[in-house]
Amino acid sequence: MLFKNVLVPYDESEHAKSALHIALGMVGDDSTATVHVLAIVATGAFTSPTLTGNAFDDLSYLSDPDRTESDDIMGALVHRARTDMEGTVDDALDGATCKVVVTAGVASSPVEGIAEYVESHGIDLVVMGRRGLGALRGMLGSVSFGVLRSVDVPVLTVK
Ligand code: ATP
Ligand code: MG
Repeated sequence: MLFKNVLVPYDESEHAKSALHIALGMVGDDSTATVHVLAIVATGAFTSPTLTGNAFDDLSYLSDPDRTESDDIMGALVHRARTDMEGTVDDALDGATCKVVVTAGVASSPVEGIAEYVESHGIDLVVMGRRGLGALRGMLGSVSFGVLRSVDVPVLTVK
C-alpha cells in the first residue's frame, strides 16, 4: 500500500469510528504501516503558563509543583480521551497486523493539533469523519474543513 502512516483524528463520533474502520481496512494487513489515532483536547478558554505550544501525550507538567488547576483539568481530559480511544481501537482492530498508535494531545485548537501531528509524524494520509460530535447542520464540520485547508497530504472524509 502506498500509504504507510495514516492518521485518524478521533473525537468519539460515529463518523470518526467509520474513519478508523476505513483506515484499518486500507492498511490493516500491512505490517509495515502505522495507523495513528489522535484526539486533540483544545485548550480553548483555558490559559496556562505551563501549556505553551502543542503537546502530544506530554504530561510532564503534571509533576510540576507550580501547575495550575487548568493543567490538572487538561491532564484529566487527555487521560480520559486516551482511555476511551484505547477501548474503541481494540474493538476495531479485528486481526489487523499494522502498527497502531493511540495518542491524545493538547493544542490550542483541534485543527492546529492535527496539522502539527501531520508534520511531525510523517503522516501521508488523513482519514477523518465528515462531521463530528458538534453541529447538526451543514456539509462539513469545522475541523474537517480546517484540516483540508491546512495540510498538504491527501485527506479522505467519510460518513
Ligand atoms: P463542529 O465541531 O464544527 O461543530 P462537527 O463536530 O460536526 O462540527 P468536526 O468537528 O469537523 O464536525 O468533526 C469532523 C471530524 O474531525 C471528526 O469525525 C473527527 O475525525 C475529527 N475531529 C473533530 N474534533 C476532533 C478533535 N478534538 N480531535 C481529533 N479529531 C477531531
Ligand atoms: Mg466537532
